[in-house]
Amino acid sequence: MARLQQLLSAALLLLLSGHSGGTLVSGLLAAGTKWETPYHVINGPEAGPTVFLTGGLHGNEPAGALAADQIRHWPIIKGRLVVLPHANQPGLKAGTRHLPELAKEEADLNRNFPRTDADNQASTLIGREIWRLAQQSQPDWVIDLHEGYHFHQIQSKSVGSTILASRPWDQRTRPVVTRMLSTINATITDSRKHFLPLRGTANGSLTRAAAERLGASSLILETTTREQPLSLRVRQHRVMVRTLLQEIGILGDGAPTLTSPKDRLDLRVAIYDGGGAGTSGPRNLEQVMKTIPRSLNWRIGPADILEGALDHFDVVIFPGGSGSKQAAALGIQGRDKVREFIERGGGFVGICAGAYLAAANYSWSLKICNYNTFCETREIPGVGRKSMWYRGPSSTVTMQLTTEGHEILGRGVEPFHIRYHNGPIMSPAGIPELHDYQVLGWFRSEVFHYETQRGTMVNTPAIVSGKFGKGRVLSISPHPESSQKLRYLVARAIRWVGGL
Ligand SMILES: [Zn+2]
Repeated sequence: MARLQQLLSAALLLLLSGHSGGTLVSGLLAAGTKWETPYHVINGPEAGPTVFLTGGLHGNEPAGALAADQIRHWPIIKGRLVVLPHANQPGLKAGTRHLPELAKEEADLNRNFPRTDADNQASTLIGREIWRLAQQSQPDWVIDLHEGYHFHQIQSKSVGSTILASRPWDQRTRPVVTRMLSTINATITDSRKHFLPLRGTANGSLTRAAAERLGASSLILETTTREQPLSLRVRQHRVMVRTLLQEIGILGDGAPTLTSPKDRLDLRVAIYDGGGAGTSGPRNLEQVMKTIPRSLNWRIGPADILEGALDHFDVVIFPGGSGSKQAAALGIQGRDKVREFIERGGGFVGICAGAYLAAANYSWSLKICNYNTFCETREIPGVGRKSMWYRGPSSTVTMQLTTEGHEILGRGVEPFHIRYHNGPIMSPAGIPELHDYQVLGWFRSEVFHYETQRGTMVNTPAIVSGKFGKGRVLSISPHPESSQKLRYLVARAIRWVGGL
C-alpha cells in the first residue's frame, strides 16, 4: 500500500512538473484539498548544498510568501533550492495567522512540527505534507520567512527585524548569520530598526524540528510590518537570503535580488509602494490585477528600481499619495531609471500622485508626458498664499470618455461618477521634445476649495495618454481603482500601456 502511494505521488509529481497554469511548478502539497499549495525544486548545474525555503506559514505575514515566490526564479549556480512560498495558502488568502477553521491547538502551522523528545510526527494534513517534503529534501539549511509587528529593539515583545537561529552556537550557522546581519543592516539608516540575532526557535516550529531531526542549519528571518511598505519587507527578505546563498556558494557574487519571473505570462506589472505612495492605492491595484489573466504583479520600491528591477516588468504603476514625495524617494537616479524604462518600451500608469509625477512642469517630475498641472500659488484674501493643487477632501465628480478613450478604455454608461482627491488639472505644456498627449476623458464637473479655482477643472482632461520613446504613458487624475465598478478602466489602461 505504501509502495502504491509512493508510485502515485511520483506520477503526480511527473504530471505537475513543468508548466501548470503558466506557473513553473515541481509539485503540489496536499493536492486536491483546501490546503493545496505548490512547491518548486530548482537544481543548480553543479552539486552543492540544499536549501529548503518556506514562506507564508503564518497567513498574515505576506512578505515571506512574496519573497520566496520571487527567490524561486533566481539562477542558482550549484546545489538545490526547494521553495514552498505559500505554506498556509488559505491563511494567506484570508490574511489570518492561523490555519483557518482548525482547533486552536493545531491552528498555528509553525507549531505543527515534531516536538523536542516527542515522536517524529507532525500534526494536521498540511503540517505532515510540509514535514514529508522537508525530510525528502534532506536540507543543509532550512530558512523560514516571517514577519513581526514591531522592531524588536523598540518593542522587545515582538520578534520583528531579527534572525532567529535554532542552533545559534552551530559553527556553520554563526558566521553566515553575522554576514546576513551586516549586509541587511547596511541598508537601514535608523539603527533602532537594525536586525538583531536571537537564539532558539519555538518547540514545534519547522526550523527547530529541522535542526533537531534533519541536522539542518535553521533560521527564521523576521521583517517588521509596522510602517514599512510591503516592497521593503520583501526586499529585506531577499537581501538576507541572497547573502546566505552567496555565502554557501549557491548564488554568484553579483546576483541581483530580483530577477525575471520564469513563468509564462502575458503581462508583468510593478506596483510602486515606496515613499509617497498611499496604502490603499497599491491594494486596490492588486484587485484590478486579479482581472487580468496570465499576469503577475509585484510591489517595488526605490531600492528595487535602483537595482534595475524595472527590467523584469512590462508596466510600472505609480498610485495615489504625493507625487513630490514619490519623486524624492526615487531620487534623481531612480527617476532616471523610470524614464529609461519607458523610453525603452515600458508602460507607465500614473494615478493622481502618479500623474503629477509624470508631468512636465516640476523640477522633480519625470517629464514623460507633455502636460502641466495647475499648481501655481495664488494670494487668497484673508487666507494668504495658497497652492492651487489643493481642492479639499475626497469627493465625487462626473467624467466622460472621448472616442480615443473608448478605444483604449472601453465603453460604459456615460457620463459617470468617479472619486476625485486633488488629482492634477492638466493642460498642454508644449515642450517640443515631447509628443503631444491625447485626451481619453474629460472632467464634466468640478470641485474647488478656493474661489480662484472655480471654473478651472470642469471640461479639462481627466485621463490622458502619450508616448515617451518607445513606451506608453497613461495618466489618470481621479481614482477609478478605488471603485469596483470602474476598475475595468484601470485594467484596460494597464493592458494598453503594456502593449496587450
Ligand atoms: Zn510568523
